[in-house]
Amino acid sequence: MAIVLLSGGQDSTTALLWALRELREPLYALTFLYGQRHAIEIQAAKQIAEKLRVAHYVLDLGALWESLAVPSALTREQPIEMLPTGLPSTFVPGRNLFLLSAAAVWGYPRGETSLIMGVNQIDYSGYPDCRAPFLEAAEEALKYALDSPIRIIAPFLFWDKARLWQYAKEIGYLDFIVEETHTCYLGERAIRHVWGYGCGTCAACHLRKVGYEQAFG
Ligand code: ZN
Repeated sequence: MAIVLLSGGQDSTTALLWALRELREPLYALTFLYGQRHAIEIQAAKQIAEKLRVAHYVLDLGALWESLAVPSALTREQPIEMLPTGLPSTFVPGRNLFLLSAAAVWGYPRGETSLIMGVNQIDYSGYPDCRAPFLEAAEEALKYALDSPIRIIAPFLFWDKARLWQYAKEIGYLDFIVEETHTCYLGERAIRHVWGYGCGTCAACHLRKVGYEQAFG
């Protein structure tokens, strides 16, 4: 069984499309609520799964996240900026470890589990939990924790955004990615660009836009 961690953004949606093409086992998509400021991403995830006819579950970690008082510009009203730590304020500490653990536990009763994530470590924001050493260690830890075969697959780990856009085009899903996925940190959905919806200026929009321009000129 394969579980795609689907946020409703470009990367995870492309990962879902990849899994639909490349994997033969039964496929599920999981979306996690962890106090995201914008419900629009969750809505996008629901529609994407529905249109691709993938069984989709939304798991709510909101109360846990709230009680942890995780400081992040994705979950609180705070400026999106670089912090003295060298990480952007959009970093959600521990997020991918929590989400992978939760997905592995969800999959546990269903047997052998592959967890698919759309993360990449190339042109992203330097999030430590989007890098190969973390993913390898998390896979190892989950295997020991559950004493069960777990694989973590990040098919785009070494791709940049331009390659991601090209892949979407190659498999005939460019319009789908443009129209259905949501990336903008500000939750802007009224403005439509050639690369999709968004404010056009936040870091997430910027990466998406620049990747599109690099891919297609
Ligand atoms: Zn934006």
